[in-house]
Amino acid sequence: MSEVLYSARELEKVVADLAAEIAADFAGQPLLLLGLLKGCHPFLADLSRHLSRYQVELSVDYLQAKSYIGKASSGRVTISPLNPDDSFCRRRHVIVVDDIFDSGLTMKEVMAWLKERGAASVKSCVLLRKTGCSRVVMEPDYQGSVIPDAFVVGYGLDYNEQYRELPYIKILGKNEP
Ligand code: 5GP
Ligand code: MG
Repeated sequence: MSEVLYSARELEKVVADLAAEIAADFAGQPLLLLGLLKGCHPFLADLSRHLSRYQVELSVDYLQAKSYIGKASSGRVTISPLNPDDSFCRRRHVIVVDDIFDSGLTMKEVMAWLKERGAASVKSCVLLRKTGCSRVVMEPDYQGSVIPDAFVVGYGLDYNEQYRELPYIKILGKNEP
């Protein structure tokens, strides 16, 4: 059996609150939301829609970042830009948007990658923050909700490319494929 952690309605509130927090910090400023594929897709879409209610000059782009294989971190992050011209972040104020934060390794590597390519500032925003990781390498600037140390799927999060389409987030049951 699997356990629903956040319903679609609860996620809506978490994302709306994050947008309000970001808008308060970036009022009147140009901001690049940079989503990490593939897990960010529903979160980034909802976050940008909420941000459209505020005076933030928004643009959106993506990077592919991969560290997990199955249910475990490989310990290495592979970053693949979609655009071969990686000057897209030069002199921009960037917020990196990811679905979930565990050790922070993915976020740390991506933020360093962007700084090396001339971003004016780089912050991080994650929907979920796991607890219990013993080797946390940084702290996120914006985080939606804190969750227990379990493997979760739905709302963009996958297990071997399944479950991303669920409108809610659940803990993957032990016997589920
Ligand atoms: P970190 O690099 O912070 O240790 O791990 C973050 C990355 O690992 C996320 O971008 C996500 O791809 C993956 N990840 C971590 N925990 C989970 C989880 O519970 N479920 C899924 N589907 N992916 C996870
Ligand atoms: Mg990821």
